[in-house]
Amino acid sequence: MLSKKLFKRAKTLIPGGVNSPVRAFKNVDGDPFFVRRAKGARIEDVDGNHYIDYVGTWGPAILGHAPNSVTGAIPEMAKDGVSFGIPHPGEVEMAQTIIDWVPAVEKVRLVSSGTEATMSCIRLARGYTKRDKIVKFEGCYHGHVDSLLVAAGSGALTFGEPDSAGVPASLAAETITLPYNDPAALEECFATYGDQIAALIVESYPANAGLILPKDGFLQQMRDITTQHGSLLIFDEVMTGFRLGKGGVAELEGISPDLTAMGKVIGGGLPVGAFGGRDEIMEHLAPNGPVYQAGTLSGNPLAVIAGLTQLREIDHNNGFMKLEALGARLEEGVRKILHEKGLGYTFHRKGSMFCLFFTEKPVFNLDDVETSNKEHFRRYFWNCLNKGLYMAPSPYETGFISMAHTFDDIDKTLEIMNESI
Ligand SMILES: *Cc1c(COP(=O)(O)O)cnc(C)c1O
Repeated sequence: MLSKKLFKRAKTLIPGGVNSPVRAFKNVDGDPFFVRRAKGARIEDVDGNHYIDYVGTWGPAILGHAPNSVTGAIPEMAKDGVSFGIPHPGEVEMAQTIIDWVPAVEKVRLVSSGTEATMSCIRLARGYTKRDKIVKFEGCYHGHVDSLLVAAGSGALTFGEPDSAGVPASLAAETITLPYNDPAALEECFATYGDQIAALIVESYPANAGLILPKDGFLQQMRDITTQHGSLLIFDEVMTGFRLGKGGVAELEGISPDLTAMGKVIGGGLPVGAFGGRDEIMEHLAPNGPVYQAGTLSGNPLAVIAGLTQLREIDHNNGFMKLEALGARLEEGVRKILHEKGLGYTFHRKGSMFCLFFTEKPVFNLDDVETSNKEHFRRYFWNCLNKGLYMAPSPYETGFISMAHTFDDIDKTLEIMNESI
């Protein structure tokens, strides 16, 4: 078993043997497999096992793994250079594409990860409003930014410690955390602290504690209350952006945030993030304004070309409609299985994102998510994996369908789920 051997060795070299905690399979009491290659909807591990994949490198792989268009574009670009640190045309093309697609973004800056994007939004909001407090919701993950690692969803939840050691108490004190889908709590928070709040940041659809959807009017309340108090509304669309539609949740729900954080899908599998918003706010960034933000590899030519290639391919192939059809087929099948087995578990889906909660409780917030039957999830996860189906190794994750999945793949998936649950 090569995976076992590699993991043993990795643990002597890398903390926990992984470069990001969610990869460690801690929440399913096991060890991760090591991947040899991945193509389309499928992964092959180093021991030669094959899996249908619904993790999709945690979101970016919307075309499936290693799409030919992207793997063709990268070496083509690399012939001319892999990093310049000098402006190049690809950055302008990427900025234009983001601004064309995302209605609330008038100016955009590229960074190298989603974490950098949210971190920069927070600093910009504080610099622009000259206020310090940030409001976030329990279960929303915005990357491992100090001020945002409070009650932060999947990775932190898996280890049962919502707050990270190493975050200064003085900094965490500037972050107010509210339960999601609770209009009264939001109202009270702004009534009390309104004039000190720089920004409210929210995962436009929270997708790092399973997939939670806003109750009718909750996003509009966020928009209204921040405007009323002179605070900024930041939509973290790192997960949802370019996955649920060209303009993300902001467009789907008709809400116009002041700032938007982006990542994952826009990088085509390479490290990219971006943040953007109203021109007047973005102009506060250096070199034009007083808010400093920078990056040696920001706008990296390989990452930009990979991302642009991916976005164009989704668009040219009617991608979002196809993904919706695949998602609908999966949803119909899962509901049928649950019904036939007499399981009242909650299933949420939006387009190509889905989550099966192992709880009969309707899920509106983190407390509801935590009523999940972890033991049942663990059994289900290993049964699926052993039959060639790779679902995320935690009950707090969202699943992703890619354009490389076929209706046959979905049917095969349902067959395995039916035998595994
Ligand atoms: C993944 C994620 C991030 C962090 O992005 P990284 O590229 O991992 O730094 C931020 N916000 C949301 C909503 C995410 O899903």
